[in-house]
Amino acid sequence: MVMSSRQCTFCNYKDRRNLEVRILRKEITQAEAAKIIGVSRQAVFNHMKNHLSKDIILVEKGSDRAEGLNVIDELMSISKETKAILQEARGSKRKDNRLALRAIERLEKQIELQERILGNIKEGNTINLQFNTEYLEIKAIILDILEKYPAAKEEFLERLSAVEADSD
Ligand SMILES: [Zn+2]
Repeated sequence: MVMSSRQCTFCNYKDRRNLEVRILRKEITQAEAAKIIGVSRQAVFNHMKNHLSKDIILVEKGSDRAEGLNVIDELMSISKETKAILQEARGSKRKDNRLALRAIERLEKQIELQERILGNIKEGNTINLQFNTEYLEIKAIILDILEKYPAAKEEFLERLSAVEADSD
């Protein structure tokens, strides 16, 4: 008999996704996860086999599951760095508009890539960009900067609306 996800303690565990990822990356064993959650090893095994968060499964469907997960991590850290550059370019006394625009270009590419990855995830699960805080943060920063470049802002919003429409 297979436990349904409603009865599964792991499914209802607050740190669920984080633990799932750490198990997949072999940072912790299923036995260790079982201890953390306070369930049997069998329960963790059952959860990982039957209830794993849909997006996590689909992210790894390419070749290697760890690789798939790392792509997202990688992307997140790249956009974090780009955002830092952007803020620096904007925040300094002598505003460096060329640098800011270059950073925006990169962020656009990153959003596109992120969208492509999320698009793969979406096939089996709904991930709404509107709820992706990283994405919303980047978008807010870009829009803020583009206040100075009305034409670029218009084009950015146009392209963005296509991306966002896809993510519904
Ligand atoms: Zn479960």
